[in-house]
Amino acid sequence: MKQLLKVKGLKQYFPIKGGFLGRTVNHVKAVDDISFEVYEGETVSIVGESGCGKSTTGRAILRLEEPTAGEIQFDGDNVLKLSKSEMRKKRKDMQIIFQDPYASINPRQTVIDVLTEAMEIQNIVPKAERRDRAIELLETVGLKAWQADRFPHEFSGGQRQRIGIARALSLNPKLIICDEAVSALDVSIQAQILNLLKKLQRDFKLTYLFISHDLGVVRHISDRIIVMYLGRIVEIADKKSLFEKPSHPYTKALLSAIPTPNPEVTKNRMILKGDVPSPINPPAGCRFHTRCPFATDRCRSEVPELRTAVGMLPGHQAACHYLEDIAAGKL
Ligand code: SF4
Repeated sequence: MKQLLKVKGLKQYFPIKGGFLGRTVNHVKAVDDISFEVYEGETVSIVGESGCGKSTTGRAILRLEEPTAGEIQFDGDNVLKLSKSEMRKKRKDMQIIFQDPYASINPRQTVIDVLTEAMEIQNIVPKAERRDRAIELLETVGLKAWQADRFPHEFSGGQRQRIGIARALSLNPKLIICDEAVSALDVSIQAQILNLLKKLQRDFKLTYLFISHDLGVVRHISDRIIVMYLGRIVEIADKKSLFEKPSHPYTKALLSAIPTPNPEVTKNRMILKGDVPSPINPPAGCRFHTRCPFATDRCRSEVPELRTAVGMLPGHQAACHYLEDIAAGKL
């Protein structure tokens, strides 16, 4: 498979201003040195608790925020080296679906205006054909042609998210970043939207970077999964390996928290104590050590690298000093 996106050493720090002169007194280290690849046609999900840096990563890839450091290669170009006008053209190939379909759609525009606006900015469809193309897109996402001249408030949440998907599709993108795209929807509507996304992926050969806090949702759609904690990647694996043989204690805790539909099945739940520490002063060594039941002195001083330990499949990596001991039940 061809590599479509490569993120290398990405950092996104946000300055904290303070004092009389408004100088930078510290930084929020939202994303701190992460690297990963996405191949054409696959769905890679990024999961983690709120504040782990997953949405910031998506926004940095699109340069909606200028990254502090790192490299982003997309379809043969170093995105961070592109000028503003080159980046505008590149965005045609990289689209985003936001969590809140209502907030991300201009309430004063009709659906047809929402869908033709991007075509007009990018000038990719002749003016006379834009309306027909927009109606085709509406039907592709399960809406009707007669709804084209309606305003967003006339649609339900699920329908608005379909409009958001149609807007993302309007430029024939290669990559779509779905940023908590189904989190605001009811469970039954979530399933419909996830099925629609899977169908569109097959029909249009799309690649997804799917950002979510919900491992249940991620299980439904992903090929590979990246788990983030406090700005760093702690585990990367294909879906089967991650769900059947999670290696990092944080991933194990997240998985053990997923409710089971069968009340007869009892699970060994691993309850995490305390809150996620502040990304302003993240813990030294392993960032998870303040909540990890296996933490030792080494964890408090030495940063664990992502690695494939004995018994893990190729491509499965986790950042923990004691992967072998935890797997063998020695810790
Ligand atoms: Fe826990 Fe230490 Fe592994 Fe971090 S390195 S996950 S603190 S055992």
